[in-house]
Amino acid sequence: MITLKEALTKSKEELAQLRAELEEKAKASDINAYVGFESSGEGVPILIKDNIQVKGWSVTSASKILQGYIAPYEATAIKNLKSKGMMAFGRANMDEFAMGSTTESSFYGITKNPHDTSRVPGGSSGGSAAAVAAGIAIAALGSDTGGSIRQPAAYCGVVGMKPTYGRVSRYGLAAYASSLDQIGPITQNVEDAAILYDAIKGHDEKDSTSADFEIEDIANNMDPDRKLTIAVIDNYISEADEDVQKAYADTVKSLEAAGHTVVHKNMQNTKYDIATYYILATAEAATNLARFDGVRYGARAESNTTEELFFNTRSEGFGEEVKRRILLGNFVLSSGFYDAYYLKAQKVRHLIQDEFNAIFDECDLILSPVAPSVAPKIGANEDPLEMYKSDMYTIAINLAGLPAISLPVAKNDEGMPVGLQLIAKKFDEKTLFDGALSME
Ligand code: GLN
Repeated sequence: MITLKEALTKSKEELAQLRAELEEKAKASDINAYVGFESSGEGVPILIKDNIQVKGWSVTSASKILQGYIAPYEATAIKNLKSKGMMAFGRANMDEFAMGSTTESSFYGITKNPHDTSRVPGGSSGGSAAAVAAGIAIAALGSDTGGSIRQPAAYCGVVGMKPTYGRVSRYGLAAYASSLDQIGPITQNVEDAAILYDAIKGHDEKDSTSADFEIEDIANNMDPDRKLTIAVIDNYISEADEDVQKAYADTVKSLEAAGHTVVHKNMQNTKYDIATYYILATAEAATNLARFDGVRYGARAESNTTEELFFNTRSEGFGEEVKRRILLGNFVLSSGFYDAYYLKAQKVRHLIQDEFNAIFDECDLILSPVAPSVAPKIGANEDPLEMYKSDMYTIAINLAGLPAISLPVAKNDEGMPVGLQLIAKKFDEKTLFDGALSME
């Protein structure tokens, strides 16, 4: 597949032909990465996760409850990419409301991993990553609340980047956990990720958490020869399986051979990551999803009273995992439990942030696994707690608001990709991309 960088040099006519070819190929593919072929604007086609508003499109967060909803406005990230020679083309499959790690909870059915169709592509941005890996998208947008860009990128062998919290506007991104969500690129290589990141980033007065200072563009300014100090977290790696440990050890060696300084560290608070994340994310999700009541958006269930309207619409419209999280979120926020769970989790979140900051006082980047294994088989994670555990390496980065990039570094004996991530300090995307380019 042509890269984003190359595609940006093509004429209008060539791009129109490219889009037609892409659509034909995507329709013939059996991996179920696209859930719609809407298009909007002119230019290089970018596949859009089904939770980002493109004006006039059906945008459903892969949920039954949003069937029939048409986006009345445009996300700022979409507006921004349209001003840089790109367009929105196609809706990518995802876990319902971005809650999941496998793309198995979509209303539209499972997306398959193009490297082995008996395996999941990861999630929740599984459609975006699988399409780029299968050569049926040039590049895609995903969203990352606890790993949903980086983990599917790792499982599918492509590049996925989560910007610093506040760097890309969340205006027009369906909210899952507002203090953690970020939109970011999924691409074939590091340079394309920088191009798409440059295009979507920037201050936006419509998002009150958007950082109000601009940073220079990165794609034309990357330095792969920069020598960096990279921390490896020794106690992080012990829980990963053999494939990941081997890829990790090999990468550390090649980083040293390339002239980077590798320093060994341990982190004490990693054992709290999953509990902290699943308390805060579900609390925010319960609050955010309260707006889906059958009155304002999408599907409306049969009912005689208003109470019944809310009850029936939500009972019929939300899937099992979403309901589980709404219940959990309301539980941790309820009086009597608020102090014990929600408030405590907020405090631990600060400890996690402080621990990262201490490492960044001495180091430019951290190298870490993205997931403890390669992509699992479809249906393998029946137990939700097991699924939550697979987020152990990605969620702390969202709790700390840091930027990170997932890079394909190896394949295991069965040909399944292994990804590792680089993590940088807040708003230091420049160093993140310099390090990523040197690893490519
Ligand atoms: N797997 C995590 C969750 O289910 C992360 C999802 C995401 O980043 N959207 O919450």
